[in-house]
Amino acid sequence: MNGNPQRIWAACLGQLQMEVPRASYDTWLKGTVGLALVEGRLTVGVPTTFATEWLERRMAPTIHRVVSAVVGAQTKAAFQVAPSTPAEEDPRPPQSVVDPRASFSGGSPSATLAPSAPEGGVNPRYSFSSFVVGDGNQLAYAAATAVAQRPGFQYNPLFIYSGVGLGKTHLLHAIAIEALAQNLHPMYVTSEQFTGDFIRAVKERSQDDFRAKYRSADLLLVDDIQFLEGREQTQVSFFHTFNELHNADKQIVIACDRSPGAVEFLEDRLRSRFQWGLVTDIQPPDVETRTAILQSKAERARVRINEEVASLIARMPLTSVRELEGCLNKVIALASFTGKAITADLVASALGGGPAALAGPTTRTPQQAIAAVARHYGIPFGELCRRSKDRRTTESQRVAMYILSAILHLRSEEAGQLLGSWNRRTVTNSVKSIATRLGADPALAGTIHAIVATM
Ligand code: ADP
Ligand code: MG
Repeated sequence: MNGNPQRIWAACLGQLQMEVPRASYDTWLKGTVGLALVEGRLTVGVPTTFATEWLERRMAPTIHRVVSAVVGAQTKAAFQVAPSTPAEEDPRPPQSVVDPRASFSGGSPSATLAPSAPEGGVNPRYSFSSFVVGDGNQLAYAAATAVAQRPGFQYNPLFIYSGVGLGKTHLLHAIAIEALAQNLHPMYVTSEQFTGDFIRAVKERSQDDFRAKYRSADLLLVDDIQFLEGREQTQVSFFHTFNELHNADKQIVIACDRSPGAVEFLEDRLRSRFQWGLVTDIQPPDVETRTAILQSKAERARVRINEEVASLIARMPLTSVRELEGCLNKVIALASFTGKAITADLVASALGGGPAALAGPTTRTPQQAIAAVARHYGIPFGELCRRSKDRRTTESQRVAMYILSAILHLRSEEAGQLLGSWNRRTVTNSVKSIATRLGADPALAGTIHAIVATM
């Protein structure tokens, strides 16, 4: 690819897509094209002068860093208006390095699953055979396989809970794949899709169709049940669906971000039904399991990574498998765009911060972490440790709470105390909200990673 400006810029776009917020990417970067590479300067064609200015003012440092990494030498990008930019080349990175969930986890109530998804909206990648079993997920895995083999027989309902990115959705899909292989009719929905269906049924007075549709399932797999919060009517409807299926010995599997006992917003009768069967959690994987997961993911992407590299990435201070995969994808992307082998050095430059940061920040003090957050946001240390006037947490405080809790493993009370006497609940809510956003927002993941690297 050396010397070909179009391909070099396409590679940069692949990386930028993972780093900058989606809206910025779509508005300013999508459709731009590499025109020339001469003496440390890559000329990029953009559609308007306005875009030129915006990219120069707001994104120059990021773009400079990415272009230099791809080219392998200090390289600046210069933007030039080129209204009819050729569009033959797809600027996105190859499929194997894109989060396979991107088109899949649609959040809006009426979202349908990926158009290419087979019946039941099942992602064939999320099978039992691609699920790596370790101490933290052993029970959930065993229960899921038991349920898939004999639906409605044991463990009904099966309730799986965990923090984000630990494999709940993967297991739900694996059950569906197994059921399809037995010619059964599994139905996978997120609770948002269920809600959307229900609202539509009420609006269009098609409740009978709605009931018939859900009653036809041999297995009903409902993901992210926590989103039924505040939806009383939908909860009632779900309660009836649950009863009808359960009475007919149809299997129900539910995934949630917390245990049934902790879903305070659910009606008592629904909550108690969730405890009829088996309730199991998934704990974050230990370093060995993380290494095995990385090796398995790399193998599936047809990329070879050695033990040293896998364990280097596995020691990144991350809590979810999804983030871990994101790191692996970044490494693979950088390797394929630059044509370099995947070595410890490449890992360090793909993930930033150098090997020191990869060694793990858990030995840092809370003060060092708070100082790093303050530096990143350009605010005084003292300000981060105070409540703002309107008494709400600021983004920087939420990020600090996340780092103190999820990475340095401070108790919520301690973290709250350090950052302006917040109570435990505020801290846990903030940490949860950051953790939830992390899954969908690579820019936020990048921010946290950048902060951790400078701690
Ligand atoms: P959750 O639904 O708990 O938020 P997901 O099921 O979406 O998490 O998992 C996030 C990503 O991590 C997925 O790509 C999934 O394949 C992967 N993953 C999680 N746990 C494992 C595991 N034990 N083995 C292989 N991949 C895993
Ligand atoms: Mg999920």
